[in-house]
Amino acid sequence: MATNKDTENVKCLIIGSGPAGYTAAIYAARANMNPVVYEGLQPGGQLTTTTEVDNFPGYPEGITGPELMEDIRKQATRFGTDIRSGFATQVDFSVRPYKVIIDEEKTILAQIVIIATGATAKYLGLESEEKFRGSGVSACATCDGFFYKKQDIAVVGGGDTACEEALYLAGICKTVHLIVRKNFLRASKAMQDRVAKAENIITHFEHVTQEVLGDMSGVNGVKLLNGKGETVIIPITGFFLAIGHNPNSEVFKPYIETDEVGYIKTEGNTSKTNVPGVFACGDVQDPNYRQAITAAGSGCIAALDAERFISEMGLA
Ligand code: NDP
Repeated sequence: MATNKDTENVKCLIIGSGPAGYTAAIYAARANMNPVVYEGLQPGGQLTTTTEVDNFPGYPEGITGPELMEDIRKQATRFGTDIRSGFATQVDFSVRPYKVIIDEEKTILAQIVIIATGATAKYLGLESEEKFRGSGVSACATCDGFFYKKQDIAVVGGGDTACEEALYLAGICKTVHLIVRKNFLRASKAMQDRVAKAENIITHFEHVTQEVLGDMSGVNGVKLLNGKGETVIIPITGFFLAIGHNPNSEVFKPYIETDEVGYIKTEGNTSKTNVPGVFACGDVQDPNYRQAITAAGSGCIAALDAERFISEMGLA
């Protein structure tokens, strides 16, 4: 990888800006590691696309996702974190300092790197879904729900995200069709209860989406196959995906070990990857918990691991 003219040396580079990245920055900044954060494609991460967050400690009345992220960001900048826009397009972790190319232009040479790139919503992979993306198909209810006020829409998925999105949309839309491929919801009991109590959510168990239907003006229906092998068409104007996420680890894969799904492997309870001095935290390395608070906690762990590495290597 060629080093271009626009090269900068930094002690601690944090890639990603969700609760993990910003919390790592708070700890790293307070430990005089002069962290530089590149925010990535979605500054603030996935929480900026949610509404109420009721389970983050310290907010007894709840807080919105964007406000929470803004608070954590402010806390990171208070201690001198240098937060920048930019996306890591290439890395070379073969020798330290590690090389990270930002937006295919700028080269950062970092003594240590903390990866906090999170995860991205999955799509079903249907041609029709792709065709109507942005004109009726969405993976973010809180971003796009407003456009479907008093309309009939569908949400696909049976996990906590699908239930959360269905409940959110139920407050805006006329009817929410929750399309679940199995005969049960994988979501927590509390979520399931809330969905069951919502009068305008109709759950369709054992239904698989075959095609999103529509015309020039956008989506007007969804074609499903039910458990009996019958085709079912439901008229809708919005189709929301809530079927899980892919970890954003692609750019690191030539150097960093991941599991078969792409989650970065970390050593035991630490944030250490297979490359010394490269740490991973948050959803990019967590297939299990994926909560804002666990991501924040793992960001703290990554900064502490990085601090120890810096002192052990005499880089302070
Ligand atoms: P999950 O992986 O938990 O659920 C994904 C859902 O989508 C499953 O029901 C799955 O079906 C379904 N699905 C996957 N692929 C397809 C497909 N191709 N066609 C149809 N359906 C499909 O993801 P979530 O995003 O819901 O949750 C991720 C994690 O985040 C979980 O640990 C969850 O608890 C947590 N979370 C917590 C929240 C909270 O506490 N407030 C809110 C949101 C998420 P199947 O069951 O058949 O595999």
